[in-house]
Order: sequence, then C-alpha cells, then structure tokens
Amino acid sequence: MKKILQAILDFFYEIFLGCRHSHLTRPFTIQHETYKVCLDCGKRIYYSPETLLPLSTREVRRLEAARAGELKVVPVASSASALAGDHKPRIAA
Ligand SMILES: [Zn+2]
Repeated sequence: MKKILQAILDFFYEIFLGCRHSHLTRPFTIQHETYKVCLDCGKRIYYSPETLLPLSTREVRRLEAARAGELKVVPVASSASALAGDHKPRIAA
C-alpha cells in the first residue's frame, strides 16, 4: 500500500514539478551534443562540453533550434536528389 501511495506521489510530483531526474547516466557526447539521460523519463539533460556544467534553458533552446534546422535541411536535400533521378539532361540556365 505504501508503495502505491509513493507511486501516486511521484506521479503528481512529476506533473507539477517535473521528473526529479535522480537516475541519470554518465554524461556522454553524441554528434557534438553532450548530455546525460534520465533513466526514469528519458529526458536529456544537456551539458556544456567545455565546462561540464548543465546548460541554461536558453542555451538548450538554442541547441534544439539548431538541431531542428539541421533535421529540416537533410530530408529536403535527399528528396530533391531523389526527384532529380530521372537522368534526363536539363539545362538549368
Ligand atoms: Zn527524469
């Protein structure tokens, strides 16, 4: 019973205050991003690779914006080359 109450408390704690992220992996760097991962909720806690301190909210937002930009560019470029795969010579000028 105590376990259920604890689970309920944790549930509300996470809703109102966010996960406590008490079970984190060690920091690691993938594709120029350094972060720990919360084993409870899967959230990434970003760190500066220089200082190994957690990034501020603003820095994380900038990093995510940069990553979103990269993700947009890649599929457009690959679909454009797929469309151009009809091998007909074209004069673009
Ligand atoms: Zn968490």
